[in-house]
Amino acid sequence: MELIHTAACMKQLAAEARRGDRLLGLVPTMGALHEGHLSLVREAKKQCSPVVVSIFVNPKQFGPSEDFQKYPRTLDADRAALEALGVDCVFAPTPEQIYPLGFRTSVSVEGLGDRLEGRSRPGHFRGVTTVVLKLFEITLPRFAFFGRKDAQQARIIRQMTGDLDLDTELVVCPIVREPDGLALSSRNAYLSASDRRAATVLYRSLDTLRRDVSSGDRDVLHLLATVRKMIESEPGVALDYAEIVDADTLEPVMALRKTCYMLLAARVGSTRLIDNALIEPAGDSFSVKI
Ligand code: AMP
Repeated sequence: MELIHTAACMKQLAAEARRGDRLLGLVPTMGALHEGHLSLVREAKKQCSPVVVSIFVNPKQFGPSEDFQKYPRTLDADRAALEALGVDCVFAPTPEQIYPLGFRTSVSVEGLGDRLEGRSRPGHFRGVTTVVLKLFEITLPRFAFFGRKDAQQARIIRQMTGDLDLDTELVVCPIVREPDGLALSSRNAYLSASDRRAATVLYRSLDTLRRDVSSGDRDVLHLLATVRKMIESEPGVALDYAEIVDADTLEPVMALRKTCYMLLAARVGSTRLIDNALIEPAGDSFSVKI
């Protein structure tokens, strides 16, 4: 497995893969890898060769009072895990490689990034789309693998690839969870033992939503009220938002008709966590994927 730190070396490897008509798959990450990330890598290995995993804690997607400095960095363990999965190349650039002195450009997708995560984290998605476009330019992936855990992010990146005619197909993979339902996240490492127990309320509320929908409840306000009440009544948990939105526009819906997401964000102790469920029409009813 190659470990590449410079954009120039990475571009060379990527250009060779394109010339050889090889299907380069990119898995963009910020490291501190867990089974959620590794599930994307396994999917990439099924579809692509070579597989490149980028590890870059992107300063531009963190707000001034967020956890950029303390974000976990575990490159040696990450490398070992990726090597064991047969990854061809790890691209771990320094911030200067991605944002050299004098860097001034940003990419932003209008509209989709202003609400939900974007409202709580102003500038976050501009940071994400800017770095993802740079990573795509450097690695020239035919396929790029993202988790549905960050559903709004995946939607925004899909919009960007379409709008900018990027020659990269997105693959969005399911959410990987702990046995008790908590979605894996590098930020789970910040949770105290009691936070960790309380954090399962996100999954439990989505599971209740699944039960309510499968027993025929289509009343969005009622479904939302149940989820919000469950989360708000959990000690140590402060709900940021719980919304049911159209999967395409990310605008709130009044009734279940088309594919939509139940999107959640909450602060558990001092750690901000997100989670979601995908609600899809299935014949006369709806299926809820958590
Ligand atoms: P991050 O390192 O947090 O930027 O995440 C890198 C990629 O891994 C993103 O596409 C995430 O959506 C995905 N990811 C993170 N956690 C999970 C999870 N629990 N299940 C599936 N994908 C995940």
